[in-house]
Amino acid sequence: MSQVFLKTVCLSLRTAPQQCGRLVPLVSTQRRAYSSGEEADLVVIGSGPGGYVAAIKAAQLGLNTVCIEKNATLGGTCLNVGCIPSKALLNNSYYYHMAHTNDLKNRGIEITGLSLNLEKMMDAKSTAVKALTGGIAHLFKQNKVRLVSGHGKITGTNEVTALKEDGSSEVVRAKNILIATGSEVTPFPGIEVDEESIVSSTGALKLAKVPEKLVLIGAGVIGLELGSVWSRLGAEVTAVEFLGSIGGLGIDGEVSKNFQRILAKQGLKFKLNTKVTGARKEGSKVLVSVESVKDPEKKEELDCDVLLVCVGRRPYTNNLGLEEIGIERDEKGRVPVNSRFQTVIPNVFAIGDCIHGPMLAHKAEDEGIVCVEGIAGGPVHIDYNCIPSVIYTHPEVAWVGRTEEDLKSDGIEYKVGKFPFAANSRAKTNNETDGFVKVVADKATDRLLGAHIIGPGAGEMINEAVLAMEYGASAEDIARVCHAHPTCSEALREANLAAYFGKPINF
Ligand SMILES: Cc1cc2nc3c(=O)[nH]c(=O)nc-3n(C[C@H](O)[C@H](O)[C@H](O)COP(=O)(O)OP(=O)(O)OC[C@H]3O[C@@H](n4cnc5c(N)ncnc54)[C@H](O)[C@@H]3O)c2cc1C
Repeated sequence: MSQVFLKTVCLSLRTAPQQCGRLVPLVSTQRRAYSSGEEADLVVIGSGPGGYVAAIKAAQLGLNTVCIEKNATLGGTCLNVGCIPSKALLNNSYYYHMAHTNDLKNRGIEITGLSLNLEKMMDAKSTAVKALTGGIAHLFKQNKVRLVSGHGKITGTNEVTALKEDGSSEVVRAKNILIATGSEVTPFPGIEVDEESIVSSTGALKLAKVPEKLVLIGAGVIGLELGSVWSRLGAEVTAVEFLGSIGGLGIDGEVSKNFQRILAKQGLKFKLNTKVTGARKEGSKVLVSVESVKDPEKKEELDCDVLLVCVGRRPYTNNLGLEEIGIERDEKGRVPVNSRFQTVIPNVFAIGDCIHGPMLAHKAEDEGIVCVEGIAGGPVHIDYNCIPSVIYTHPEVAWVGRTEEDLKSDGIEYKVGKFPFAANSRAKTNNETDGFVKVVADKATDRLLGAHIIGPGAGEMINEAVLAMEYGASAEDIARVCHAHPTCSEALREANLAAYFGKPINF
């Protein structure tokens, strides 16, 4: 079998060539709905992007599948209070921002009598959420996944009990159990969230009015997205960050600096290397005490109408019955699993935000798919180096693979290819020239090791780099692929040209 063919087959099964000894046909046509009382092949606890995708895939593979969800709607954090509502607000607040600033005027579009109807903007968000969460219910029916409402508690190694709101319960017996219970907001010690004037990301998605001043604790991905939304709608936003840079873990240092500069130009204020020590309400204001990380004598009090606490998320495994069956959580509260997503109990699996790795919807989905393929007898492999990250601000920031900082600390020799959007014809035409594409490739082999993009449509463009990395492409491979003109993706090609040949064409 040729290497290329082997790689293709293995990738389609999401496994590495060296692990690809056994090719198991994974699609079964004998799909049958689970009926109450019988033993299911799989019970999934949680219907977030990890759980619902796993349940559908399992049913498609012929497994009798049940999904237990405690919330009234399906889709978990992502669809209800995460990815989807935040992107609806990001998208629509950006339209408002364009209309409100001179941006549209400079493009020859003059609007008079412009005003913000926040209620309608929130309605548009809710419509998107409703359509997508309802869509999962439809997909469950179509794929014969049985949905059981209630809080799932593992009551035996082959049994999950769904505890219902009315006090009743339903026992589901199953050969395999998949924990996909996700995560919850990490509280900030000493600051109580009321989801009105002191809010978490959930409250920040439904503020009733635009705050005059908003202070944000944590300039990571979620904080910057939500901070951008309210800044565009008119709030004066100050982000307080303990670290000396923005964008959270994994972001390339050069991208982070540029990102901060661009957001500052848009009006966001940053207090880096600054620690929040407390917050108290006074009348309609929230007073936030901060001090310098480097010099604790330097203290300050910031006042705001809304304080947004965005210091991360933690695994959610409350009242799941883990200890009772001998599964101990790690120091971060995660469920430990092996490379096949098995816990210490071989037929109990876990995926998504409640296990190790980045807390991302697409990571949870991928784990859900390969985990159930494994249960159905297939190979299991995920290359965590090929999971992209995106910050959906404007411009977007996206990356995959290694940063220059990673490569330096690992002593790997690399070369860099860069291309600014200011030299990309489409970005120039659209007057969206902030940002650049930067790729890092192995100095000896030219293999692409990472891609870092800040610019228009970075979140879409990064997928090309992910595909290239999954297939072990070199910078030259990407540079030799024909890219449609005029597109912003040509900047990715040019950056790869710069990496392998030393020079791009258009810069
Ligand atoms: C504001 C915000 C924006 C985000 N934006 C993005 C983004 O743009 N892109 C991205 O990739 N990620 C984003 N995320 C992260 C993403 O939402 C999570 O990584 C993803 O939802 C994790 O999926 P999951 O299936 O592991 O868990 P979850 O989505 O948390 O789903 C878990 C489900 O399990 C249910 N559950 C828990 N315990 C039980 C139980 N005992 N019984 C029954 N049901 C139970 C919960 O009710 C929930 O429905 C964002 C998160 C937030 C908060």
